[in-house]
Amino acid sequence: MSRPIQVMKFGGTSVGDATRIRSAAAIAAETSKERAVVMVVSAMSGVTNTLIAAATKAGAGDESAAETLARSLQEKHHEAIGKLISDIEKRRELLSEIDTLIERAANYCRGCAMLGELSPRALDAIAGTGERLTARMAAAVLREMGHHGVAFDASELIVTDEVHGGARPLAGPTRTKTLAALSPVLQDGGIPVVTGYVAATAKGIPTTLGRGGSDYSATILGAALDASEVVIWTDVNGVLTADPRMVSEAATLDEVSYIEAGELAFFGAKVLHPMTLRPVVERAIPVWIRNSFEPRLAGTKITHTVQPTPQGVKAVTATRDVAMIAIAGPGIIGVPDIAARIFSATASAHANIVMISQSSSQDSICFVVQAADAVRTEQALRNALYEDVHQHDLEHIKVNRDVAIVAVVGENMVGTPGIAGRVFSTLGKESINIIAIAQGSSEYNISFLVESSGMEKAVKALHQAFGLGKREKSDGTRTVAQVTT
Ligand code: ADP
Ligand code: ASP
Ligand code: MG
Repeated sequence: MSRPIQVMKFGGTSVGDATRIRSAAAIAAETSKERAVVMVVSAMSGVTNTLIAAATKAGAGDESAAETLARSLQEKHHEAIGKLISDIEKRRELLSEIDTLIERAANYCRGCAMLGELSPRALDAIAGTGERLTARMAAAVLREMGHHGVAFDASELIVTDEVHGGARPLAGPTRTKTLAALSPVLQDGGIPVVTGYVAATAKGIPTTLGRGGSDYSATILGAALDASEVVIWTDVNGVLTADPRMVSEAATLDEVSYIEAGELAFFGAKVLHPMTLRPVVERAIPVWIRNSFEPRLAGTKITHTVQPTPQGVKAVTATRDVAMIAIAGPGIIGVPDIAARIFSATASAHANIVMISQSSSQDSICFVVQAADAVRTEQALRNALYEDVHQHDLEHIKVNRDVAIVAVVGENMVGTPGIAGRVFSTLGKESINIIAIAQGSSEYNISFLVESSGMEKAVKALHQAFGLGKREKSDGTRTVAQVTT
């Protein structure tokens, strides 16, 4: 019988330099003693930002962006390869592959600079270069360790729609291609090393799955291969009760449900791309979040089942990566199709709506979209509502980027009374003004919009009010902090 498959993904910091790439390969090699392993790798940390910045400059007509990009990518990757590959011939081969990929990205930038334009399609072709580089490097390191590491470009495995910058996978064709390409290597005892983040349309045009999308790549491949588990190796101990960059006493959760992790990711917990759990929920494939810097720790297990927590709330999350769009005016009253027109304009802009609220006086509709979608959405709304604005039925369409969403999340919040009360009294005590509130009928989260300057204060206060922080006991075990009333 064939061995169970584990798909393991390494994020940017987990492949951030030669030492980290070697540790990642060592984890894969060790696991491959017991299971078939598929490695998914992100770009080295900072590389995707560098690529996007260069592409943007090139699109604005800066002809030097391509050269600067090529130099900085070469420096970073050559340095790592020099430390990783000792055999001169193998190192030369790898360097030449790497240089070809870097030159291709630089050429795309030259093209953009000449045209003075950066299309979403060109941006995707450039932005995925970092993953293409690390996949080849990690596969070479595995071979150096005596394993059969084979690099794969996910644009040959994952088939998506044509929404550049945030493409969605097509499960059927992805499964067919992935099985055909990876099964022979796995059956041979090899370790495929696949690029995270990138994919391609059915016509083979490169796409990306959105920022942070390598997590999603791992679960898409996990589902396609019927993997027994997916492990996301990152730079924190697991899913925490809050972003540790905001709340230093945030505690690691041993287990969270797919629903809880999905809600946290949706409301900004960067540890998971928001779509990560979609491919694996139906097949009940467990996902682990683990720290590649501390591989002895078990991390967080994400499955269907959850351990109940007495306080109902398990974690607090927040994001400034949103914009509020408010449409107001007397014209909204009694215009039956206004909401439909607003949301069909939003849909045509492929905007991701994070929160919707309509005031009870019915003269304003306000909703929150991902910051990256704000300009497109505003334009689509202005086009769709041109007549209404012109005839003064609508007073304004306003975009406010100075906002943040904060959410408390927990599956056991369902039916636990008093949570909303505690949330609002806590924020009241801190004098944090709530702009809008939403509670899904699922009751797995309460989310609200605040001014972005109040976000961190709100997260800290709620984390403390629900007693989510860790306290070390003298024997070194963790206990949950006291709830403040
Ligand atoms: P990777 O490069 O491995 O994909 P990311 O930077 O994308 O890593 O995600 C990990 C980061 O997510 C952590 O360093 C942490 O700062 C942030 N984060 C935000 N919220 C949470 C949370 N609730 N639990 C864990 N990490 C979180
Ligand atoms: N490298 C990509 C990014 O920085 C994808 C990822 O890291 O998951 O967004
Ligand atoms: Mg990430």
